[in-house]
Amino acid sequence: MPPVFRFAPSPNGYLHLGHAYSALLNFDLAQQSGGRFLLRIEDIDGTRCRPEFEAAIYEDLAWLGIAWETPVRRQSEHFAAYREAIDRLQADGLIYPSFESRAEIARLVAEREARGAWPRDPDGAPLYPGTAKSLTEDERGRLMEQGAPYALRLDMAAACARAGDLHWREQGEGPAGETGDVAARPQAWGNVILARKETPTSYHLSVVIDDALQGVTEVVRGTDLFWSTSVHRLLQDLLGLPAPAYRHHRLIPDDAGNKLSKSTRATGLRELRAAGASPADIRRLIGLPPFCGGQPASPP
Ligand code: GLU
Repeated sequence: MPPVFRFAPSPNGYLHLGHAYSALLNFDLAQQSGGRFLLRIEDIDGTRCRPEFEAAIYEDLAWLGIAWETPVRRQSEHFAAYREAIDRLQADGLIYPSFESRAEIARLVAEREARGAWPRDPDGAPLYPGTAKSLTEDERGRLMEQGAPYALRLDMAAACARAGDLHWREQGEGPAGETGDVAARPQAWGNVILARKETPTSYHLSVVIDDALQGVTEVVRGTDLFWSTSVHRLLQDLLGLPAPAYRHHRLIPDDAGNKLSKSTRATGLRELRAAGASPADIRRLIGLPPFCGGQPASPP
């Protein structure tokens, strides 16, 4: 079976050099290994994703010389598949609803921090401090009936107890040089949100389901997502899904050494193209060798 790679952008802004690096690296690795290359549109957030950004993704990738299989999977068309997974986790008693607003959560965190350090997840966000897990069925039912907004959270302690120790095969590198056989640490994320009342999924859940449904065998993505892999391994285990191999690659910084953002115009692919850059210039800028079909890409 040929390896299957994918590039999975969210259409919530225009692509920049960092996206170009990830997309081209995936594409080159697929070409060199006789593998397949898929494009997936991660558009579950209806408030931030826009059709013009999606159209620009196709245009920019084609300009870079990338070809992908069709039809392209658009996550917003598959909410039923994600809901089914949520239902399974719920039936297994691994999910519970929490009703606190963002402001209430911020207040609870401040309270905890006033009493001492409160843990933060690998992205630097405070762990969920609420106690919604201990609400009674009656209390939950009443809040639901009142139409209160809620988030569905993974009961991390129960989930980890069920899954046991998990690892993944890392062919790239984590933020501290982690590579090879990496031990997953999902506990570091606390009781993560897997769905919301309005959106029956989350990044973590949909990425894991889609990678499995699409037969992805190699996940090649930025090192900023390295520790998210812990949650992905846990969900794969709980849902009985296969684990791909992972290769986390370096991020492309801007001139000041900061992480690129979709709003930084100087490094946007469209701006660079309008300023006369060629696809070969883009490869040079991000340190990828010219594509000569079969030549190895530089290590991430
Ligand atoms: N959609 C994610 C992003 O744009 C990438 C998901 C992944 O590669 O796992 O950051």
